[in-house]
Amino acid sequence: MFLNSRSEPTELVKLRFLNARMMLGPKEKRYYLNLEIGYQGEVMFDQFTQKLQNDFYIINDLRLESNNAEFQIDTLIIAQETIYPFEVKNHEGDYYYEAGNFFSMSTEDEIKNPLDQLKRSKSLLCPLLKKMGNKIPVEGFVTFVNPVFTLYQAPLHAPIIYPSQLKSFMKKIDQIPSKLNSRHKWLADQLLSLHLKESRYALKPAYYYEKGIICPRCYSFMISVGNKKLVCHKCGCEESVDSGVLRCVMEHEILFPDRKITTNGIHEWCGGIVSTKVIRRILLQNLASIGTRQHRYFE
Ligand SMILES: [Zn+2]
Repeated sequence: MFLNSRSEPTELVKLRFLNARMMLGPKEKRYYLNLEIGYQGEVMFDQFTQKLQNDFYIINDLRLESNNAEFQIDTLIIAQETIYPFEVKNHEGDYYYEAGNFFSMSTEDEIKNPLDQLKRSKSLLCPLLKKMGNKIPVEGFVTFVNPVFTLYQAPLHAPIIYPSQLKSFMKKIDQIPSKLNSRHKWLADQLLSLHLKESRYALKPAYYYEKGIICPRCYSFMISVGNKKLVCHKCGCEESVDSGVLRCVMEHEILFPDRKITTNGIHEWCGGIVSTKVIRRILLQNLASIGTRQHRYFE
């Protein structure tokens, strides 16, 4: 049973907007692409956990704090006798393992050691669970989900699940008898209540935005055609002005949660391509307005 569904992390959504609107620095760009790839991997992993039939609680994307340190668990499965944290990895291509480190065969670049990441999150999760009175043993796994992943010189007894083993692993845990009780539920609820929405270490790039309405399909800028239609200048995607402006409002809320939504603010954010008159109408029709005339804002 899933206790929460996985949604795109706010940080990823934010960076996707930013990537369309500004030149991200090389470090930020790499970070953003890693988030995209990582998220896709987690979605792939969900396809396996969704098939589980056993009595489990499954929590996706849990971000917690313990001993003043933040950590994240891609998927946590609570079974009757075992708690399984999974570190999900979506690396593609050939890698090798040497002296405790992971390297890409094509670039020779060292990648973050996922076994260390798992060890760290386990060492932070266990004391937290202990504080909650938990006595169920914790058994974590690094899971490589990309079917085009190979690890040479793989460590023999490491807790790693390879793409070719995913199906049989899931089948195996599905067959271990599991019956959850109120104690398990309480534990799961406690963990969920401690979940941090956004990382304290979320990247905060300097904001020099390019304004305009970005295409929902290819993230290029759109131009307006008449009063009713927007067209992407790159992929030709078409959209009604109303829906494009409302997407801009949503994006504005994610990027500037503290700023009030005003006709002029959204007009500017849309790059001035939609008249203030049309924007006012769209906002009035779709959002609750507070105040009048020049003091009006929307929620
Ligand atoms: Zn487009």
